[in-house]
This record gives sequence, C-alpha cells and structure tokens, in this order.
Amino acid sequence: MGKEKRLTGMLAIFLFVAALSFFVIGNGKEARQTTSSSVAEQDGHNKDIGKVALTFDDGPHPFYTEQLLDGLKERGVKATFFVTGENAQLHPDIIERMDKEGHLIGNHTYSHIQLTTGNREQFREELIKTNEIIMEITGKEVIYVRPPYGSWDKKFETELNMFPVLWSVDPLDWCSSNVSCITNRIIGDVEDSDIILMHDCYESTVTAALQVVDELMAEGYTFVTADEILFD
Ligand SMILES: [Zn+2]
Repeated sequence: MGKEKRLTGMLAIFLFVAALSFFVIGNGKEARQTTSSSVAEQDGHNKDIGKVALTFDDGPHPFYTEQLLDGLKERGVKATFFVTGENAQLHPDIIERMDKEGHLIGNHTYSHIQLTTGNREQFREELIKTNEIIMEITGKEVIYVRPPYGSWDKKFETELNMFPVLWSVDPLDWCSSNVSCITNRIIGDVEDSDIILMHDCYESTVTAALQVVDELMAEGYTFVTADEILFD
C-alpha cells in the first residue's frame, strides 16, 4: 500500500514538472511570436527588404547639390556623386562637404565628354585630370567612373584602375520637372540592389530624390553607396 502511494506521488510530481515545462516552453514561444507580429503590425511593412544606391551625375551644382546634401544629412543617407572635373574645380567646397559627410565621389570626365572611336586619348586624359582635381580636394584616390552616356572601354580598368558604375533604374529626371512623375518611375521600378540614376542639377530631382528616400526607407530599404552594391 505504502509503495503504491510513493509511486503515485512520484508520477504526480513527474506529470507536474512535465506540464510546467511544457507551459513555460510553449509560453515563451508564443511570447516571441507575439512580439515579432506586433512589430510588423505596428510598422505595417516588412523590414530589410533590400538596399539601393542613389547616384547623382553632372554636379556639383552651386545650389541644388547643397540642398540635396542637406536633405540626405537630415535622413542619415549616403549617396554617390559622379562629378565633372569642370564643376569640381568651380565648387571644391561642395566636393569637400560630400566627402566629409560620407558620400562616395566618382569621376564623370572633365567636360562631360562621350567616348567615341576617335577620342580615346582625350577621354583618358579627362579621366586622369578629373581624378587629380578630386584627389587634391579629398586626398582620396578615385576608383569609380560613370562614363557619360554609358560609353566605356574595358581596357581603362587595367590601365587606370578605374571601374565603371552604370545604372539599373533611370527615371529620366533630366527631361521632366514633374516631381511625382520622377518618384513614381523610381518607386514602381525599384528592386533590391538597384542603382538609381539621377542628376543633382535640377530642383525637381532634389525634391523627388528626398521623397524617394522617405518612401523607400518606410518600405524597409537601406541606402548605400554604389560600391556596396557592386562588391557585395
Ligand atoms: Zn552626365
């Protein structure tokens, strides 16, 4: 009788411990699920859906580039600027600011020249001259080039240790002053690891770019400099 009572008692303790551990484990799991789903509900979107790079060509512009830099700084966003040597020479203070604020600076030739079959040497000289102008201001070597109109000769990569950065989203901002037209083209096309082409010499581009930053950040995108997309 006594033995039987002890066994019943042990069984009861075992069942109690088993039930308690089940409750604790189950509850913990449920608690975690609740936490993650409530975060998603609060934000209304998924986090970390990708990264994109904003790139701006043809600057620096004495007014719009500074306006853009202000907006990017407010949002903690880094972009890539492909500047011409001519404009860099005119506005070294803006180049210095871009560099100090963590943006990537690339070469867009000296005079916005397009590479053709007949001007390879001149194009090469413009790349070198522009590199020297930027390097004198920032003290940093220039590695990336956005060749005007996308014309490039792969041999420059080994000759000059320079690499082209093309683009995957082109909102044609230079031909439209309509801000929502520019933003809609970008938001409609954008995917993870896209490089967006824009020009920091128009007021509409500055407004559109900052709207795009706000919308895509709210969707869960991260903004990075172009090198982070190329060498990921
Ligand atoms: Zn250009």
